[in-house]
Amino acid sequence: EQEGPVEGRETRLRVVLRVRPLTCTETRRGDRQVVHSLGDGTVHVSAARHDATFGFSAVFDAGASQEAVFEGSGMRQLVELAIDGFSCTVFAFGQTGSGKTYTLMGPLGQSEAPAVLGLMQRSFACLLEHSRSHGPGLALSASYLEIYNEQVRDLLSPGPPCALPLRWSKTRGFYAENQLSVDFESLETIVDLLLQGSRRRRTSAHALNKHSSRSHALLTIRIRSRAPSSSPSKQGTLCFVDLAGSERVKDTGSTGELCVEANNINRSLLALGHCISLLAKPQGKRTHIPYRDSKLTRLLARSLGGWGVTLMVACISPSSRCLSETLSTLHYASRAR
Ligand code: ADP
Ligand code: MG
Repeated sequence: EQEGPVEGRETRLRVVLRVRPLTCTETRRGDRQVVHSLGDGTVHVSAARHDATFGFSAVFDAGASQEAVFEGSGMRQLVELAIDGFSCTVFAFGQTGSGKTYTLMGPLGQSEAPAVLGLMQRSFACLLEHSRSHGPGLALSASYLEIYNEQVRDLLSPGPPCALPLRWSKTRGFYAENQLSVDFESLETIVDLLLQGSRRRRTSAHALNKHSSRSHALLTIRIRSRAPSSSPSKQGTLCFVDLAGSERVKDTGSTGELCVEANNINRSLLALGHCISLLAKPQGKRTHIPYRDSKLTRLLARSLGGWGVTLMVACISPSSRCLSETLSTLHYASRAR
């Protein structure tokens, strides 16, 4: 495994927590708030038989704005590292309805109010601003893939959905064959690609949330500095991963086809959790990292190992009704830490 110059656990892997506000429905039906932020990066969960505290690099509670999450999570530094040639990844993890998509994209397609833009739009703006203000600028391109039921699909391709095989090459690592890559130079173009691609994302009805996302979505920005030909050009990547809901099958009333789906989702989340917890270990103590266990971890192998820097945003609901899933997210996230 190739080691990059970003050393130390804290810089290579940051785990932050976001607690969304109670929704109107939750408030109306009288759900209790069981998660409380204690300040300095810890949250307390208190309910009948549970009483536990968890610590993170940062905690954003219901009152935290999208801007506060961008600035306080280390996202801006991640963008800067990607410009400097590192492979950077941000994951949103949590059960369906916990605020993963909101954190990454805001209410995409519904509001363009600057205050609600997500980590993605803010990062795009940051990249384009850097490109404008630094000499010859950056060459930027985007790809957008979905992993659904262990099949990879191109979200930028307008044609009928078809599964892309994964390939491996020495220079690129794992990649999806024939995946589209679109160059962009403006915020409008990249936000439009995000919107079009997200509309193609597969959703299916099930008891917990009829629009629950049952797929992982990976938007990758490739960044090349347009350096003068005399100096070596840097190549970084910035990958945004909106993971499928982490809820367990038994809670969602899934049967048959949905059950196969849920098992595949849990398999890649388990594989991801396993890789991340191994990577979180001090470098001398690391064993083999099992990237090959799922399509998700294969596609992310480059970003997670070697020159990679990872930000994980664990998302939870504060509601008493989500308690068991919330605890499972908190355990998963603190294992990564
Ligand atoms: P997920 O992607 O994890 O399934 P969503 O991002 O779709 O969850 O969020 C579920 C609902 O909660 C959406 O209606 C979303 O707008 C709302 N929501 C999530 N996080 C916040 C937040 N921090 N502030 C306001 N509304 C939020
Ligand atoms: Mg979502």
